[in-house]
Amino acid sequence: MHDEKNQKEAAVITVASKKDSKEREKTMENQKKCFNFRKIKKDVQGITLIALVVTIIVLLILAGIALNLTIGENGIFSRAEKAANTWRNAETNEQLAMGELGNWIGNYLGENGNGGSQGGGSSTEEKWFVQKFEKAQEDNCPGGDACTDPENHIHVGDYVTNFNNTCTNTSSPVNLSEEQTGVEGTQTYQYDSNTTWRVLGIRGSGDSAQLILTTGSPIKRTGDDPYLHLEGAEGWYNTDDSMTDNNILDEICSIYNNSLADEVRSMRIEDINNLLGITVGEDGQIYKNGEKISSSQSFIGYSQTYGQGDNHYAPENYLIEKYPSNEEYQNLRPKYEGDTVDGSAYMYMVTDPSVIDSSSKLYEVLFDGTTSNGYSKAYWLASSGVLDYGSFCGFGPGFVFLGLACGGYGDLFHSCGREQEYWFGVRPVAYLKSTVSENDLTISRNGTEEEWATTIPDPDGFTSESISAGRVTARP
Ligand SMILES: [Zn+2]
Repeated sequence: MHDEKNQKEAAVITVASKKDSKEREKTMENQKKCFNFRKIKKDVQGITLIALVVTIIVLLILAGIALNLTIGENGIFSRAEKAANTWRNAETNEQLAMGELGNWIGNYLGENGNGGSQGGGSSTEEKWFVQKFEKAQEDNCPGGDACTDPENHIHVGDYVTNFNNTCTNTSSPVNLSEEQTGVEGTQTYQYDSNTTWRVLGIRGSGDSAQLILTTGSPIKRTGDDPYLHLEGAEGWYNTDDSMTDNNILDEICSIYNNSLADEVRSMRIEDINNLLGITVGEDGQIYKNGEKISSSQSFIGYSQTYGQGDNHYAPENYLIEKYPSNEEYQNLRPKYEGDTVDGSAYMYMVTDPSVIDSSSKLYEVLFDGTTSNGYSKAYWLASSGVLDYGSFCGFGPGFVFLGLACGGYGDLFHSCGREQEYWFGVRPVAYLKSTVSENDLTISRNGTEEEWATTIPDPDGFTSESISAGRVTARP
């Protein structure tokens, strides 16, 4: 390419030189006519200048080509610039790709904080309800009318007044049969739009934090008697998570299933333990903040051995014998002489100041009407267990009653051959979805709870009778 161009340029110079020499001849003739040597001398110099100009033009052309190669559209500068841009873009793309990869890994590891779900935006901030809940605690706010910062506070005991609007099971009643409760007749629960919902606390932290609600009072059975009656082996089996997947206390609470909640189910002793900061030690003892609660009693670690004869009955044997057509009961493993039963019940006094401050809102929400007022708001806990009496043991769900919170004290079935009927309220607990927004909930600091009948449960009225089935026999 270059050689070709040079040849062309060389040709142009040759033509220019030929033109020049013709002009020079003409000039020479004129000069001869004029005999002016000085002029001749000048012309010679002029010839040199023309050559110089031509040379400069040629150089300029060459320079132009070079410039074009350097700064033109495909020039060195422009190419360098393009290369630099490409590099920068690659770098940016790589950073974006690395960022996306990081988010992806974060999501799969279930990390709190930098989850990529919100377009890479930082989400390490606590949830709105956690912030408001903690703010109220930091400000030592008493809540209610005395609230010092209503805009930025959520308190234990606040009412969520629109929770019933998002319930999804409002027209499906729950009917429980004698085969499920051990009590004659059908007991029915139905959604009631007057049910109140109160804030209990927070579970978890970060992106997985949840707001916990419970009903202001236990929920009522349809009819005049608001309580759920349970008796015997049926009442024990159907409220024991280790026996059945279909805990009837949870089934009752499902009438308040809600689109804003991950789960709505019956209160358990574990829910109360978590809210009060109580733990069950590996030694079976009950602790709060590392201190053993003196007003607690545990049957964990005790064990009973079945004998045979008049004083040895097992709830499994009872159900197998009494309900021959119930497939679930027929699948139970019968108990024989020599089989053992481990104690698992425990309890603590909620009126003990080392357990909870009785002037707190949490105390009001959880225990109001269960320690006085005829214990009218006493309620079942869907935490079944075994209580060891020394010479026999008792089976049944826990409850909150008589100033006690009990895990597995229901005492519906005695291995010595008696069964008892108890009646308490049912207390749902709702764990709201972590994604619940501030607009989803209407929170009010005030509300009132209905007074309940003070005549039941009557601790002296609980009936007890001999068991007619379920005797333990020698191993076949
Ligand atoms: Zn407040």
